[in-house]
Amino acid sequence: MVARVVPVAPFDLVVFGATGDLARRKLLPALYHRLHDGQMPIEARVIGAARAQMDAEGFRRLAAEALDEFVAPADLDPDSRRRFLATLDYVPLDVTKDDDWQALADTLGAPDPERPRAFYLSVAPRFFGVIAERIAAAGLAGAHGRIVVEKPFGHDLPSARALNQSLARHFDEGRIYRIDHYLGKETVQNLMALRFANALFEPLWNAHHVDHVQITVAETVGVGGRGPYYDGVGAMRDMVQNHLLQLLCLTAMEPPARLRPDDVRDEKLKVLRALAPVDAARDVVRGQYGAGPGVASYADDVGDADTRTESFVALRAHVENWRWSGVPFYLRTGKRLRARMSEIAVAFKDPPHSIFAGAGGRAGANVLAIRLQPDEGITLSMTVKDPGPGGMRLTPAELDMTFAEQLGGGGLRMPDAYERLVMDVIRGDQTLFMRGDEVEAAWRWVDPIIAAWEERGERPALYDPGSSGPEDALMLMHRDGRRWREISA
Ligand code: NAD
Repeated sequence: MVARVVPVAPFDLVVFGATGDLARRKLLPALYHRLHDGQMPIEARVIGAARAQMDAEGFRRLAAEALDEFVAPADLDPDSRRRFLATLDYVPLDVTKDDDWQALADTLGAPDPERPRAFYLSVAPRFFGVIAERIAAAGLAGAHGRIVVEKPFGHDLPSARALNQSLARHFDEGRIYRIDHYLGKETVQNLMALRFANALFEPLWNAHHVDHVQITVAETVGVGGRGPYYDGVGAMRDMVQNHLLQLLCLTAMEPPARLRPDDVRDEKLKVLRALAPVDAARDVVRGQYGAGPGVASYADDVGDADTRTESFVALRAHVENWRWSGVPFYLRTGKRLRARMSEIAVAFKDPPHSIFAGAGGRAGANVLAIRLQPDEGITLSMTVKDPGPGGMRLTPAELDMTFAEQLGGGGLRMPDAYERLVMDVIRGDQTLFMRGDEVEAAWRWVDPIIAAWEERGERPALYDPGSSGPEDALMLMHRDGRRWREISA
């Protein structure tokens, strides 16, 4: 099967921070792929803007190196590479200096209503307000220009509100694209297709049939070079407030009336508002990785023996509404865990009555696991009869739908989330971007948990690198008579 590609209109995309890590690792390779696949037209322009003094040729060299490093050799076509590099331009620009903006205005020219224009703010959030203001003051965005902002979107509710206000002064909400790259993942969208394009699951998707939901985002890496930044943030702010809560929303939301951006986002917002406050002492476990063979501890990684920041969080949440009454949603994320693995697992209740009591094996509960990484795909664990004449014996079996194999005949590359998201910006589709009120609602739920931790001032529980997190996280489930799914690649 060949993926269908609908080309977008020629566009102008300004990337602030175009020499940075995100631009080199993700944005430039994503754009290259879209051009190679025939979606980004060669008449498009990608204008890098950053502090480094260089010309367009210098930026093309930097981009070429980024492609060589971050695009798989099999996907790097010399002709597409050359055509992509030809779309690049560059303007040296310190966003805080008035004088530098004129060169960008000259390069961009007057806005053309026929040509989508977008400004990607791949810079630290403290620059979001000033960039929005300068773009507006210089009239660079015209009536339709869009602004794209990266995470982190705020540090808490007041800072997120202030950021929202600073953007709203110059851009309508319909032109602000807040990135949560988890929403661009193929499987995450497949979750919506699975739920709302099939009649099979939705009747079961509620407290009558679902025992609980587990959402895990596990990493094997430590904080690496992000130590000083991460230590002021922690896993709750870095992962739970955005990615894990977004996954929870898509799992728990009501069917939107249509697939229009605000219909979907209204439903997600209702989930966030229905989240019951959690008791930080009873429902939440914080962890910090210790040292292991050849692996430094979190405290050593961040250079602070007394740090209280968590590199792991596990929690139990409840969505207090008709559909989910009494169904726990267990969320877990951490660094230096056993494997790199992200998944949403919906665990259904046991069959109400077993007629197989005398048979070998046991009728296990069905689990629908939606895997985000590695190997995006969906598996449904079932109980079937053990094949053969050995009588009625039961055995677990998995219906496996690993997308790359099933849908691509093995040959289809799974596009990176950024490819879809950047094209959605150009198409003007906000469905997979967070609305300002969603972000604020998520902070409103998270802030009291962090405040309670700060008040208690305890150190997070230590866990071994390569483990599944602290013992207390296992207990959080055991107390409820449940178990976490194994963290495995
Ligand atoms: P980085 O430090 O590698 O790059 C920052 C870029 O901003 C550089 O191009 C630099 O020249 C530019 N810059 C800094 N000050 C400037 C100024 N005054 N005027 C103009 N340009 C200026 O950062 P990064 O890792 O690429 O991250 C960029 C943004 O994306 C941040 O908001 C970050 O939180 C977010 N983000 C990054 C990643 C990632 O994987 N790197 C992931 C998610 C979100």
